[in-house]
Amino acid sequence: MSELQKIIDESQNIVFFGGAGVSTESGIPDFRSADGIYNQQSDIPPEVILSHSFFEQYPEEFFRFHREKMICTWAKPNAAHLKLAELERAGKLKAVVTQNIDGLHQAAGSRTVYELHGSILRNYCLNCGKQYGVDFVLAHEGVPYCDCGGIVRPDVVLYEESLDPAQIEGAVRSISLADTLIIGGTSLTVYPAAGLIDYFRGKNLVLINRDATPYDSRATLVLHEKVGEVLGKITV
Ligand code: ZN
Repeated sequence: MSELQKIIDESQNIVFFGGAGVSTESGIPDFRSADGIYNQQSDIPPEVILSHSFFEQYPEEFFRFHREKMICTWAKPNAAHLKLAELERAGKLKAVVTQNIDGLHQAAGSRTVYELHGSILRNYCLNCGKQYGVDFVLAHEGVPYCDCGGIVRPDVVLYEESLDPAQIEGAVRSISLADTLIIGGTSLTVYPAAGLIDYFRGKNLVLINRDATPYDSRATLVLHEKVGEVLGKITV
């Protein structure tokens, strides 16, 4: 911990890269962990439901799953989200890159957030492009339709869909300029996490994850702990 504090004290351009483990401390299940929804019993595996072709073919079932499992507006930012926002306000942290779709970094006050997989809070009409908040989706039963008759879909990246180039570019740019990259709550096995880390040219690579990752040997500092518990103890 004292080593992490020292690294943060000495850094001027920190970027945080976070995975599902950042949100689990807010009560949001990690899809891929042992007790996540991917391993719960259901007729159709979630990775099939959350695919572009399933969404096109079975929008009713997609939205039922989306409302029950993906929309988590009850969740509150935890110590990790709050500390990262504080570091940004202090001018030390330049960007958060996240694989999560819950919007909790912005809820905690973070301004520069690259959401690689989109956000459940944003929704748009597939026909006219009109934007809707998550309340609109929650207020409608079944498939939510726009005034124009088009389906209103969440602005999240489904399986079989490509990532938003603007989010990738922002993430690559910030990571390549960072002096310290802190990676938290991800096993770094999911695309595009590993590829993005290769752009890091800075001094300190810090990994905070409960389990070991393939990058542990390359890191300046490795902490096998919960990311919120670790970051919560940092003094800005
Ligand atoms: Zn429309």
